Amino acid sequence: MSSTHPNLPVVKISPRGATRLKSGHVWIYRSDVLGSEAIPPGSVVTVSDQRGKMLGTALYSSSSQIALRLLSHEPVPDSLALLRQRIIDAIAYRKDIVRDADAYRLIFSEADFLPGLIVDRYNDILSIQVLTQAMDTNPMRETFISTLQEQLNPAAIVERVDPRVRELETLPPRASGLLHGDKTASTFTMNSVQFLYDAMEGQKTGAFLDQRENYAAAARYAHGAALDVFCYHGGFALHLAPHCAAVTGIDSSRPALEQADKNAALNHELLGNKEIEWIEANAFDLLKDYSAASHLYDTIVLDPPPFAKTKRDLDSALRGYKELNLRALKMLRKGGVLVTCSCSYHVGQTDFLEMLALHYVIIRRSYLVILFR
Ligand code: SAH
Repeated sequence: MSSTHPNLPVVKISPRGATRLKSGHVWIYRSDVLGSEAIPPGSVVTVSDQRGKMLGTALYSSSSQIALRLLSHEPVPDSLALLRQRIIDAIAYRKDIVRDADAYRLIFSEADFLPGLIVDRYNDILSIQVLTQAMDTNPMRETFISTLQEQLNPAAIVERVDPRVRELETLPPRASGLLHGDKTASTFTMNSVQFLYDAMEGQKTGAFLDQRENYAAAARYAHGAALDVFCYHGGFALHLAPHCAAVTGIDSSRPALEQADKNAALNHELLGNKEIEWIEANAFDLLKDYSAASHLYDTIVLDPPPFAKTKRDLDSALRGYKELNLRALKMLRKGGVLVTCSCSYHVGQTDFLEMLALHYVIIRRSYLVILFR
C-alpha cells in the first residue's frame, strides 16, 4: 500500500530528519536529504523515510540549506486548493484576534502553514514577501494573488523584494512593485493612532507591526517626560504622547524623523496642542551626553535595531544593550518606567533579563516594563 500522491516526486530523508519531522519540526535541512537530483526547484514533493514510508508533503528548494518545508503530514492531492484554504483560514484567525487595528501581519509563513509567504495588511494595501522557490512559481503566485483579491478586495497588492533572499534561493532578480491595483500610499490605524503608509518605502514592509500590542502596553504605564529612543516613524512616541507632558523622539535617520513628524500632524486631535520633539542623533552618543548631564525622564523607550545577527555577535550585542539600558536607567526619575526591547534573534530572554537585572539591582530605583519582540 502506498499513501503517497502518485504525481508528486518523492524525497527520501535520513532517520535524523524523520525524527525531527515526527517531533513536530517543519524544516528538513539539506544534510538530511538522501538524494533529490531530478527534482525541479520549487516542487511540491512527498517526503518519505529511508524505507519509503510516507511522512508528509513539503515544498522543495534546490538551493537553500532548508531543503524541505513541511506543508502537511498528510498527502496533498491539490496544493493550490490547500494554499487557498490556508489563506482563508489565516484571514479568519486574524479577524478573531486583532483588536483596534487595520494594520497587522495577515500571513506569517510557517506559522500559518504557508512556508515562504508573508502578507502584511496596511488598511487597504497588502504588502507581500515571497521567500521560497515554491511560493515564487507562477501557479502559487496566481493562486495567492487571486485568493487575497477575492477575500479582501484590497485597493492594491504590493510585493517587497529582498534581493538577498532571491539570491539564496537562486531565483532570478525581480523588482519590488505592484501586483494588483495602483495605490501605493494610504493611512493605517493602530490603537486609535494613525500612521501614513508608503508601500514602496521604509524598513521591512513599512512598519514594525510586531510592536502593535507593546505600544498599547507602554501607553498604559507612560507618564511625565518621555524619551523614545530609536523612534523610527514615532510608533511609541505617538502612543505615549496623550499620556505624557512632553515627548522627545530620537533616531539617526532623517527620513524616518520626517515621516514621524508627518504622523504627529496626522494625529493632531489625539495629541491636542502637544508637540513632539524629534532629534536626529546617534542614540549611543546622545544617551552618553544626556546621562552625563543628568537629564531625567519619567518614561524611556529603547527599541534598537538588532545587534546580534549571528551567534558570534552575542557578546558584543549584550555589551551594546548593557550600555544603552544602564544609561537609560540612570536617566529615569524615581517611579519612572523603562520600556526596553530586543529584536536580536540570538539574544535570548534569559541573557537579556540577566543583563538588565544586574543594573536594576545596582541602581535600585524605578520599576521596569520589559517588552520583547
Ligand atoms: N521603535 C520603532 C522601531 C525602531 S527600528 C517603531 O516602533 O517603529 C530601529 C531604528 O533605529 C531605525 O529607525 C533606525 O533608523 C534607528 N537607528 C539605528 N541605529 C541608530 C543609532 N545608532 N542611533 C539612533 N538611531 C538608530
